[in-house]
Amino acid sequence: MSKTHILAIPYPAQGHVIPLMELSHELVKHGIKVTFVNTDFTHNQITKALGEEKGVVDNEIQLVSIPDGLEDGEDRNDLGKLTEAILKDMPMKLEMLIEDINKSSSNKITCVVADESFGWALEVANNMRIRSVAFWPASASMLALAFRVQQLLDDGIIDSDGTPTKDGIIQLAPMMPSMKTKELLWTCLGGFTAQKIIFDLMRRNNKAVEVADWIICNSTYDHEPAAFALAPEILPIGPLHACNHVGYLAGNFWPEDSTCLNWLDQQPNNSVIYVAFGSYTVFDHNQLQELALGLELSSKPFLWVVRSDINNNEINHKFLREFEDRVSPYGKVVQWAPQQKVLSHPSVACFLSHCGWNSTMEGTTSGVPFLCWPYFADQFVNEAYICDIWKVGLRLDRSGGIITREEVIYKIKQVVHDEKFKARALELKELAINSVKEGGSSTKNLSNFIDWIKA
Ligand code: UDP
Repeated sequence: MSKTHILAIPYPAQGHVIPLMELSHELVKHGIKVTFVNTDFTHNQITKALGEEKGVVDNEIQLVSIPDGLEDGEDRNDLGKLTEAILKDMPMKLEMLIEDINKSSSNKITCVVADESFGWALEVANNMRIRSVAFWPASASMLALAFRVQQLLDDGIIDSDGTPTKDGIIQLAPMMPSMKTKELLWTCLGGFTAQKIIFDLMRRNNKAVEVADWIICNSTYDHEPAAFALAPEILPIGPLHACNHVGYLAGNFWPEDSTCLNWLDQQPNNSVIYVAFGSYTVFDHNQLQELALGLELSSKPFLWVVRSDINNNEINHKFLREFEDRVSPYGKVVQWAPQQKVLSHPSVACFLSHCGWNSTMEGTTSGVPFLCWPYFADQFVNEAYICDIWKVGLRLDRSGGIITREEVIYKIKQVVHDEKFKARALELKELAINSVKEGGSSTKNLSNFIDWIKA
């Protein structure tokens, strides 16, 4: 008998690959075959990051790849350019891939699960008469905002390029985060050209998603009740979580340094500041130095993820080496951490985070209070959730253009010493965990989704 066979295709970014991979593992557990399509570039990053671990990775998800349309060495952090290249090349390549799979396998693709940002992949599925699902790896409130772009245009809040007509604040509904118009998702992705390309893409995605049979998202009703009330077509199935077993394919772009888990074992309970900024954030040297000195002087143990490209590949190794020597043994620096395991470690007291949605879900599911240092895209809205709606963390003051060491020291003290943050973080953790227990709201959505996908 042929198996249900889905094709999963994420947007080529770390924060999109990881949650779709987690969902794919969930589907495999239910006897569904998954072909996971990365771009050649991210596929190479993932296999390189696996290194020697490659041999132990379960072969349950088939990894394949297609080109993203850019040449080797072109800047893939230029989101406008990357988007244009993708739109030109990938739809045809995806169609050809599906045709090849369907010709050569008795398990034909029965459903395409595509990142919502890849509306074109939903269009390909629709043209090929294959069922489709839009997967949204960010907050429901961000997607609800995207769905209301036409209304923002009609109300004169933005112009046809997506540029705000004036500085102001919008709130889609009471109890949803306030959004500064100058921090709307598409306005802070890196310059006007990128803004325009991505804004147009979002409008196209709004149309494409109409053909999708489901819109699922990595969140919970308890995290975002008002957003789900506003956009009930979005169904939460989160928090998605990685398995802990050896050989689990997480989809990391950098090799995980697990030595920090032994280091955490040696720290007192509820003492460590975990500092990580996801996969995109870059700092200039001044800012990196202020943060380093703030951590050094905060008199708390800390674990800091410093990606090799956090300083645009111009990292000052001498500064970092001397810093590491000075702070050892109470401070540890790694290039990439097993973040979910770190956040659930009892030694961790606080998460100094860029507030990417995955990090936000992972931190709240672990009951850890936050210090917020958003960088771009949806991270300002996630910061508003953390500080204003859930009240499980504090903002760092960036009004002077740089976050100073004094501010880092002051806010670490505040968030760690005020027990209300921890108490509220634990309440949110309980709600998050309940939603994925038997009978929980996300479990019900996921189980209905899996029944549908297998039907
Ligand atoms: N992550 C990790 N190790 C690190 C830093 C990040 O495994 O040292 C993971 C993190 O757990 C999350 C993802 O990378 O799942 C980052 O996604 P997020 O949405 O937080 O941020 P983005 O990278 O998209 O800005």
